[in-house]
Amino acid sequence: MEIVGPEFVYGGGEVYVFDLDGTLIIPIAPEYRHSEDVSKYILRSGVREKIQNSHVVIFTNQLRTKPHVIEGKLNIIRSIAQVTAYIFTSDDKWRKPSPCALIEFINKYNINHNDIIYVGDAAGRRGDFSDSDRKFAMNARVGFMTPEVYFDGVCILSEQEKYTLRGFDPTLVKTDNVTIQPISDELFANELIIFVGPPSSGKSTLTKRLYPSYIKVNQDTVNCGGLKKGTKQQCLRMTEAAMCNKYGICIDNTNPTGATRAEYIAIARKYGYTVKCVLLNIDRELAIHLGSCRKILGGRVIPTVAYNKYFTDFEYPDKAEGFTLSIYGFMPNFDKKTLEVFNYRY
Ligand SMILES: [Mg+2]
Repeated sequence: MEIVGPEFVYGGGEVYVFDLDGTLIIPIAPEYRHSEDVSKYILRSGVREKIQNSHVVIFTNQLRTKPHVIEGKLNIIRSIAQVTAYIFTSDDKWRKPSPCALIEFINKYNINHNDIIYVGDAAGRRGDFSDSDRKFAMNARVGFMTPEVYFDGVCILSEQEKYTLRGFDPTLVKTDNVTIQPISDELFANELIIFVGPPSSGKSTLTKRLYPSYIKVNQDTVNCGGLKKGTKQQCLRMTEAAMCNKYGICIDNTNPTGATRAEYIAIARKYGYTVKCVLLNIDRELAIHLGSCRKILGGRVIPTVAYNKYFTDFEYPDKAEGFTLSIYGFMPNFDKKTLEVFNYRY
């Protein structure tokens, strides 16, 4: 996130904060929507009358926009008002509809949530390309208006303001914490547990809850403690080394295919280990939602292609592969902060 412009001064009362593209400025014609020629953008009608000589605070997603384009667009607003802009140039915890930046703004100036109204055009109405502005406001628990309502005075209950939110709805998921007793807390056990589950489904947490003392083999951490992403070969070597020392082992990777699992099973045979498979049966939408939560809570960003790959490659674990199988669903174990972030809409 980049914050540009003078320090905002809060004088009390209601504060309107804004999206940029499609809200304060619009292209002169629809085909210039992504133009890098800033002369192709103008103030939206009604904007001048509302914001002239005021101090405007903007929250804008600008992934892959060139800096001179962002600057040029902001200059259009600067020609009539003071501008402080929160610019989200990466896919990280700040990017709308994550409310982190708006919550930080609210806390910094000690503004009551009820006194903030966010104005944005991505509102989930028919024809809107997205609903991220509305979700941004919802997630931050502030008021929301579309530019049509704020600048043109369109009735909020009118037909054109009807909307539907897209994507995953976290309120439909039961989030009461589930208590799990460890299955084994031995250190030495001739047992290999192969976990299977999509990225960000909670495998690492589940390995710790079920087998706290077992060695955890994980491709993300196997190389120099996670400084660099490891390889499958490193995981296999670590597995064999742990078996030489008779440790109980959890393979904490996604392991979607029979072929991947077979390589670990082959080593287990060599060392006389029994093998168990733990399938974390989490659907794609929930896994992606959990990935968004992780991003906001400071974890790494998991690209959508990683989920696609898992679900494309996935072969249901079969006992014929040479293991016993246990199946777990979503097993939340959230602290207060994580639950709050889980309840955001992305
Ligand atoms: Mg917009």
